[in-house]
Amino acid sequence: MKTTEQLSNLGRIYEFFSELLNYLTNLNFENEGNIMIQKIDHIGIAVQSLEKALPFYRDILKLQLLGIEEVESEKVKVAFLKVGETNIELLEPTAVDSPIAKFIEKRGEGIHHIALGVESIDQRIKEIKEKGIRMIQDVPKAGAHESMVAFMHPKSTVGVLYEFCEKKGMKK
Ligand code: ZN
Repeated sequence: MKTTEQLSNLGRIYEFFSELLNYLTNLNFENEGNIMIQKIDHIGIAVQSLEKALPFYRDILKLQLLGIEEVESEKVKVAFLKVGETNIELLEPTAVDSPIAKFIEKRGEGIHHIALGVESIDQRIKEIKEKGIRMIQDVPKAGAHESMVAFMHPKSTVGVLYEFCEKKGMKK
């Protein structure tokens, strides 16, 4: 049996922690000037042929194939495979002048880009440009899976091609 005094102490401790929790939850981590990256949305991998690459991912690694679609603006056919919260995006060029065809010609098949999941992509682009980072697209364009995407220039990012990627319905 707890005494009344013990109970009221517990009550105060409880109040203290719920106020602390409230305070921490309300802290605004999205301060001005901070670029909010939510997760690695996907890793883009350039392949010569989806047909040849897919068996490794689907049958050997046993990754779930979420779908295949063509992104005309990029002249690629894209296969998405689920890896937990992140996807692997296999990119097959559909034309000789596709950026992916040029990439493979120059550097061979392999990792092409890393996509960072963001909200409010226009705002993110604005912020990062203010920090002196060059974008390949200043205005986001339509990517696969009804997303809006924009790439940073690898000269600004120590050699990695990063993509900002905002999924429709990602805003909560
Ligand atoms: Zn991508």
